[in-house]
Amino acid sequence: MQTKTYGHFINGEWVVGTETFPNVNPSDTRDVIGHYAQGTEADVRAAVEAAAAAFPRWAASTPQERFDVLDRVGSEMLARAEELGTLLAREEGKTLKEAIGEVRRAGQIFKFFAGEALRMSGEHLRSVRPGVEIDLIREPVGVVGLITPWNFPIAIPAWKVAPALAYGNTVVLKPAEQAPASAWALAEILSRSGLPPGAFNLVLGDGTVGASLVAQPGVSAISFTGSREVGRQVAEACARRMIRVQVEMGGKNPLVVLDDAPLEAAVEAAVNGAYFSAGERCTASSRLIVTEGIYERFRAALLERIRQLRVGPALDPNTHIGPVIDEAQLRRILHYIELGQQEGAVLACGGQRLELETPGFYLAPTLFDETDNRMTINREEIFGPVAALIRVRDYEEALAVANDTEYGLSAGIFTRSLRYAHHFRRHVQAGTVMVNLPTAGLDYHIPFGGHKASGYGPKEQGRYAQEFYTVVKTCYVAP
Ligand code: NAD
Repeated sequence: MQTKTYGHFINGEWVVGTETFPNVNPSDTRDVIGHYAQGTEADVRAAVEAAAAAFPRWAASTPQERFDVLDRVGSEMLARAEELGTLLAREEGKTLKEAIGEVRRAGQIFKFFAGEALRMSGEHLRSVRPGVEIDLIREPVGVVGLITPWNFPIAIPAWKVAPALAYGNTVVLKPAEQAPASAWALAEILSRSGLPPGAFNLVLGDGTVGASLVAQPGVSAISFTGSREVGRQVAEACARRMIRVQVEMGGKNPLVVLDDAPLEAAVEAAVNGAYFSAGERCTASSRLIVTEGIYERFRAALLERIRQLRVGPALDPNTHIGPVIDEAQLRRILHYIELGQQEGAVLACGGQRLELETPGFYLAPTLFDETDNRMTINREEIFGPVAALIRVRDYEEALAVANDTEYGLSAGIFTRSLRYAHHFRRHVQAGTVMVNLPTAGLDYHIPFGGHKASGYGPKEQGRYAQEFYTVVKTCYVAP
């Protein structure tokens, strides 16, 4: 069967260039979802010019107009959650349940920011001078470039596109090349949403397209989510041009389990955080830091629970863990597993590629035992279904180990002690703290972002998104 070719969306038109790349189903590599256009510098320039031309019109749009567009997009995503979730699971490899949940979340994000468009407001201040009035007015930034990763191929585009448009900016989106179908589907919905031509543009392709977007003179801000190395390059390039930048990167998230933790709930959170979505979440619990008194029981219960997990194709309803995204990622993860063993970590389970009925990138859920926080597997983000147990004496050591990392995205603790829970909340170095909850699993209306090497710039999502997508103008008025 001939697969379809999908193009960029530039200035209200669909454009297919000469070069394309295939989007392959990681659960079954014989299944090619489609061919997607590979953008060029000229495509990026055209998209930025279109966004710049559309900016005055969209910046002047009424709150009602913005509400209507975003609300319509959100409603359609929610109505089509199952269909779009099936596409997402097929291209990304997370389970159908997770994928439908992600589409629903994306829809809810659009609904939330539809409301925010109505609530956008400034601040009124009193001057020290008689009769002078001061207003702080929030205005859109201009053309914003949005660069997104493959692991949440619809939710992350949504949590950038929705606030960008809600606050009156125009957009060029560059989604990840490994999973472009979901972003393309979102673009298709936006193309029918009532936006003026050029207000939203999509340019598909690999990292060269992202780099070209960052370099365009017409771009006023870049919001990037992805790996730390690329995030650093993007932040540097934006700093040189002195444009606004926000980069959200990886994590090496600790889940602390204290002696007094509810065992079953802690094990469930570890399984969720380390293995669901094949561990391909920036908030994955890759370091399981467990105090001595519960260590043996926790490990035994966790291993028992891992044995029940079924690895399989994303669309199979019996699957708990789908494939990883592609061959390159699979090799990277296997390399870390090898390195862990070389550095002396004990492989408690998993560690190998799985050959299933359909040819795909399947990995057994892997647990390392008796690891040291200095080992490479505990320092670098693996981004796969791999977790490491770290034995500690007490809470104080657990907190020290949790903080002994360059990253600071999400951190969790399981304890019945209010004292430790409060202390941890205060002293753990992370953008998000979870008490008696998995490190992954975020509400769609709540700010999110990393500390240390996990994030740079204002937080994303929730009402905090306006800090990035608006500029504040201070106006003094005398009678
Ligand atoms: P990546 O950095 O390889 O790619 C991210 C995006 O950047 C892609 O669209 C890619 O094409 C583009 N890109 C690549 N090179 C570029 C360049 N030189 N200039 C501009 N753009 C370029 O990351 P990935 O493998 O797609 O995603 C996985 C990473 O994302 C993990 O590290 C994960 O932790 C992180 N992540 C972070 C969050 C968060 O909110 N903190 C959320 C999800 C994923």
